[in-house]
Amino acid sequence: MIERFSLPGTISAMHIESIAAPDLSWQEQALCAQTGADFFFPEPGSSVREAKRICGLCEMRSACLEYALTHDERFGVWGGLSEKERLSLRQTQRQ
Ligand code: SF4
Repeated sequence: MIERFSLPGTISAMHIESIAAPDLSWQEQALCAQTGADFFFPEPGSSVREAKRICGLCEMRSACLEYALTHDERFGVWGGLSEKERLSLRQTQRQ
């Protein structure tokens, strides 16, 4: 599994391990897998601008965002959206 998605001990990794095997083949082409996870899981209050810039260039953006929304990923940047932006999108979809 690619580093960005499998950091040992992260909530994300634990979540992935606890669910039935989803199709994760899109992760093989994820740009963030080439940059490391730091940009995508910044310290609280840090900028996510660089992560979003990389996501903007990533062909897997739609699959990534769909995965994050489906699996209720709460932390980090997924599919070009921050935690707050995904929460807002979820709330909009429920209305
Ligand atoms: S959209 Fe962003 S977070 Fe998702 S796979 Fe691409 S680079 Fe990674």
